[in-house]
Amino acid sequence: PKSQGFHNVPNTDFSLAPARAELAAALDRVRQKLGRDHPPVIAGKALKPAAWITSTNPAQPREVIGRWGRATPADADTAIAAAKTAFPAWRDTAPAARADILERTADLMVARRHDLSALIILEAGKPWPEADGDVSEAIDFCRFYAQEMRELARPRLSQIVPGERNTLQWIPRGIGVAIAPWNFPLAILCGLTVAPLVAGNCVIMKPAEQTTVIAATLFDLLVEAGLPSGVVNFLPGFGEDVGAHLVAHPDIAFIAFTGSRTVGTAIWETAGHAWPDQRHLKKVVCEMGGKNALIIDNDADLDEAIPAALYSAFGFSGQKCSALSRLIVLDAVYDTFVERFTAACPSLHVGNPADPGTIVGPVIDAEAKAKIEGLIATGRSEATLAFQGDSPAEGWFVPPTVFTDVKPDHAIAREEIFGPVVTIIRARDLDTAFAIANDTDYALTGGLFSRSPAALARAQREMEVGNLYLNRPITGAIVERQPFGGYRMSGGGTKAGGKGYLENFLNPRAISENV
Ligand code: GLU
Repeated sequence: PKSQGFHNVPNTDFSLAPARAELAAALDRVRQKLGRDHPPVIAGKALKPAAWITSTNPAQPREVIGRWGRATPADADTAIAAAKTAFPAWRDTAPAARADILERTADLMVARRHDLSALIILEAGKPWPEADGDVSEAIDFCRFYAQEMRELARPRLSQIVPGERNTLQWIPRGIGVAIAPWNFPLAILCGLTVAPLVAGNCVIMKPAEQTTVIAATLFDLLVEAGLPSGVVNFLPGFGEDVGAHLVAHPDIAFIAFTGSRTVGTAIWETAGHAWPDQRHLKKVVCEMGGKNALIIDNDADLDEAIPAALYSAFGFSGQKCSALSRLIVLDAVYDTFVERFTAACPSLHVGNPADPGTIVGPVIDAEAKAKIEGLIATGRSEATLAFQGDSPAEGWFVPPTVFTDVKPDHAIAREEIFGPVVTIIRARDLDTAFAIANDTDYALTGGLFSRSPAALARAQREMEVGNLYLNRPITGAIVERQPFGGYRMSGGGTKAGGKGYLENFLNPRAISENV
């Protein structure tokens, strides 16, 4: 019955008092259990790590979320050996049985969704609805990829020919690594891990340093749902040593990555090398950044455009690769738009994300804060600071910041900021607006607010992005509904949560039998 079509799990409606009470209780419950140790786990066995690293709450850095054991390159070799041992039996496990495990994982997440949200609020600094959405997306990934695998496993004739039976089979690639970011600490790590797993591969999870306790919780859920020892292995560590070592290893057949452009391009390059003892070409699924634009046409409905732009720019403090970074506003509405947009900005309540009223929480860590503040300083020298909010003194907060009079060649209009900063650029007409929007190395998300069917049609032809949004916010892709991912320097053109994604982790075989 579970395979009868995929449905997105609904988000929690926090306008209902019982839902608010449940998450508040979960926050209390999860806080009681903070401070535990999370070692690397290989083939079901916890390792004694060389060092313990402390994970803290970005909104109140004195609060310890837990400690995680730092894996070494030697541990990575052990994990690869364990995955190789586990591979044949997992490869030969029926695809439906593998899909069952993903569906059990989803059911466990549904049952514990508020506890998971609470942990995301505390370790990643996400406001309530954003944390809840992260959990929904993780659940959707499990159920969607499970369904996709059931589909792919159905025997299919490629053509009906008398005397010959031609079929196509999908077989797993082998051993791979999931290297995940901290910004969707549950959903993206989950997607990068369960897609190759359900396809019959063994996976080494290399979570982001900043959100390793959430990652450890996901790993435990996968084991509880029934993944055999060694099929999935937990290897927290630093990208520079353990991540780089895994990517370069000749036994690694694929790398599922979401993160920065710098790391992504380095992975792409390393994976392109074939070592003498390597028996396959490595497959890289690579999702990187964006410098996403939203165009506001002369006739845009500003009552809709302003909240959509606010949310796209400042939701989760702008720490989404899909976030709005360049608002390109047509000349005729520029002054009105800027006045109304900056007047709306004080409504963004900045504060501790554990408080349900918070809209903008902290950024992830001290390093991110320093980097964003550096770009804000650059912006002050290039353009006009039109709005800057207040923010708490304790914690890694950066106030929502708006620059106007931004020129397309300014650094703040070109570099990915990954923080609560938006630039507003004036465009003479729609031609200029599209040209500015496309004048970037990235091609991830983008959008247009317009009432003109001709302008909306032009955007569909001319805006060079992987995810185009018309008359709506430009973040928040939903599994299956808006398959997510970009091209150019935003990624390799793969679509997370979309048809065809699982094939990245499989090799096709054509079988022809004379009958
Ligand atoms: N899928 C997310 C969205 O549509 C963004 C993912 C990311 O930041 O990597 O907003």
